[in-house]
Amino acid sequence: MDRTKIMDKLVALSKRRGFVFQSSEIYGGLNSCWDYGPLGIELKNNIAQLWWDEMTWWHENIVGLDASILMHPRVWEASGHVAGFSDPLVDCKTCKSRFRFDQLPIDQTEAQVRTWKLPNGEKGTTPQREDRKYCPNCGSSDLSDVRQFNLMFKTFMGPVEDSAAIVYLRPETAQGIYVNALTIAEVMRLKPPFGIAQIGKAFRNEITPGNFIFRTREFEQMEMQFFVKPTEDQKWMEYWLDKRFQYNSEKLGLSKERLRLHQHTEKELAHYAKSAYDIEYEFPFGWSELEGIHNRTDFDLSRHEEYSGKSLKIFDEETKEKYIPYIIETSAGLTRSMLALMCDKYDEDEQEGEIRVVLRLPPHLAPIKAAVFPLMKKDGLPEIAENLYRTLRKRHKVFFDVTGSIGKRYRRMDEIGTPFGITIDYESKEDQSATIRYRDTLQQIRISLDKIPEWLDQNIALER
Ligand code: ATP
Repeated sequence: MDRTKIMDKLVALSKRRGFVFQSSEIYGGLNSCWDYGPLGIELKNNIAQLWWDEMTWWHENIVGLDASILMHPRVWEASGHVAGFSDPLVDCKTCKSRFRFDQLPIDQTEAQVRTWKLPNGEKGTTPQREDRKYCPNCGSSDLSDVRQFNLMFKTFMGPVEDSAAIVYLRPETAQGIYVNALTIAEVMRLKPPFGIAQIGKAFRNEITPGNFIFRTREFEQMEMQFFVKPTEDQKWMEYWLDKRFQYNSEKLGLSKERLRLHQHTEKELAHYAKSAYDIEYEFPFGWSELEGIHNRTDFDLSRHEEYSGKSLKIFDEETKEKYIPYIIETSAGLTRSMLALMCDKYDEDEQEGEIRVVLRLPPHLAPIKAAVFPLMKKDGLPEIAENLYRTLRKRHKVFFDVTGSIGKRYRRMDEIGTPFGITIDYESKEDQSATIRYRDTLQQIRISLDKIPEWLDQNIALER
């Protein structure tokens, strides 16, 4: 399969089958905003639940939180977002497009004259200079000066729209965790090492959103902030690097060869971070960040202590001293993880001379776990099938379909990633069993009707 074409195919499939489509489409859509349809929300919820179980059920020292999106504006002064959460913005003077300067391509061809097309159709030329950034839209290197552009969305709280009423839509979920950390530690009787996990919306006025749901202005994050003794930061950093890499390959199920770790260089490292890594995934458009794992030191809590005037220190029973814990952050994108999974699992094969589109989602994440089909719409078969469907839907999201040829019904399920198709045929009336067809191998097995619920439980469970 040619992976470069996957993005276009996925966008089309997502729209056609109700995974993800443009927001406010009947009004022409709103740039970079997407709605998650009936299948998209099932898939997204399953990924969120997987992460939540992994973090809060499987680690007794990690607890959950759902903080509000709007926070006291001083939070964003303390965190550094008001002063420094900006991207370098440049305009192309030729075609008027706007870009993030650090994402512009660099032309490294030497001693050449490059040409591009002007809006009036004429050709523009530039003597080539080495390492020159140029506009990816029209090719011109006639760019404006770089300006810093703050990525936070502003709004007003209450009826008066003045500067005293400004509040921000949170650009990350992490700050909600930091400002609540000590209260949570106290009420839950936690001592470092402990963690707080949160899933929620974040907003960034990105200069160049794009690649479908990869970079959007409204998105969802899954963040876990882990509070440790300052002397143990390295140990926990290594622990979480390992754990998160393993999660992305073994639990989320992304292909191992499309995952890698990228360590931030001195130049990339945020001023507050001691060390930082990205887990990168090889999207069809190239390697890009999926999740960040950062040693944020005591920066965040020190700043909140300074700006709030409240002590955010923890008492160490052993040394009898108070200290500000260090934070190891694991910060993943929920919507970005969903894109990675769909890219990873999109496939096409040939069945009986026809191209079959198949989303090879792991069963525990598939939006629909099984489809129940009567072979014919008569002779009592729909009744048996519907009975089975009613039993199964008490435990899982399943689907019942009587319309179209059996082949068509299978195809419709294959392209949305349903791992199992259960067919009731004439024999079912005699032997009280049904045929189960596997989406990936097309293998078929025969199982008695009363054993199917348990069989399904076992076959969609993630082994832990
Ligand atoms: P970039 O440098 O690509 O803008 P970042 O390093 O600022 O991203 P973080 O602040 O570390 O990103 O955010 C943590 C995670 O949140 C990212 O790894 C990504 O999965 C997700 N994320 C960040 N920005 C966006 C966005 N605009 N759209 C979708 N997901 C995002």
